[in-house]
Amino acid sequence: GFFTVQTGDGPVVSRVRGSLLQERLDTDPVAVGDRVTVTVLADGTGVIEETAERERVLSRNAASPGGREGETIDREQVILANPDQAVFVFACADPAPNQRTLDRFLVIAEHAELPALIVANKIDLVKLWSAKAFFGLYQKLGYPVLYTSALKGTGVEKLREQLGGKISALAGPSGTGKSRLLNAMQPELDLRVGEISEATTKGRHTTVATKLIPLDGGGYVADTPGIRVVSAYDVEPDELDAYFVDIAPYVPHCQFNDCAHTNEPRCAVLAAVEKGDVDPGRYDSFLRLRDEIEDLYIT
Ligand code: GDP
Ligand code: ZN
Repeated sequence: GFFTVQTGDGPVVSRVRGSLLQERLDTDPVAVGDRVTVTVLADGTGVIEETAERERVLSRNAASPGGREGETIDREQVILANPDQAVFVFACADPAPNQRTLDRFLVIAEHAELPALIVANKIDLVKLWSAKAFFGLYQKLGYPVLYTSALKGTGVEKLREQLGGKISALAGPSGTGKSRLLNAMQPELDLRVGEISEATTKGRHTTVATKLIPLDGGGYVADTPGIRVVSAYDVEPDELDAYFVDIAPYVPHCQFNDCAHTNEPRCAVLAAVEKGDVDPGRYDSFLRLRDEIEDLYIT
């Protein structure tokens, strides 16, 4: 129930005024990333009085049963308020990048209308051309890809530039080098290797705290392990095609407007996959992710 508020006079550990907690039932009244008004008490602790309207929000739907007659109450659980971009850290090797995982993250970014930056770390372990065999596709799709080595310092300066002055939601599989990259950018952070949490998929009621790490040059990096569980509960099976930037443009050209792009006649998406205009791996991600979401809808 406590937040550390960064003020002009340093951090102030603050609680939230009770009335503010009662005001909003549809969302978290205060969340990491919010801009707040705080009253500092004589003992140096603070009381959060008010939150400014959020420009953007990275959230998940924490619908809970609790309504009368068993209906669910829609409630937004905020992972991060006011994010400017999503930064997804993958490794070129060890662990090898997984297309399904990356595509899942990108869906979440598209859904939240957040620009996504892909960091391909551990470039010291492979040849650039071999890293590009995987990540090059994403550059073609329009996602910026930054090749880095936290070990050798490659690309670290560029990463610092990309993160400067912004609030970035950071996520990625464990072991890809997130902690080490942040340490390379800002040695005094001194994060333990492995300290940045891995993404979890434990289910809808898992709460994973978001941490904001202030950057020297301004801006914050938010460790958002909760980001990965978003898609399954927030994206409906029918709207998933909109969040695949390479599939979406073909959807209006399908014969049926409720086309599922699996085996329908005159499906423009299938035609594009067959022609090689849509990467088969991306199409496969789309199908698998949709199956997964559909399963969740039934249960
Ligand atoms: P996290 O789980 O994403 O925070 O990953 P860590 O930062 O804990 O790094 C996981 C492992 O990968 C550690 O053994 C790091 O030393 C190693 N590692 C991180 N970045 C690099 C890199 O750029 N190159 C190589 N070769 N190893 C790295
Ligand atoms: Zn179709």
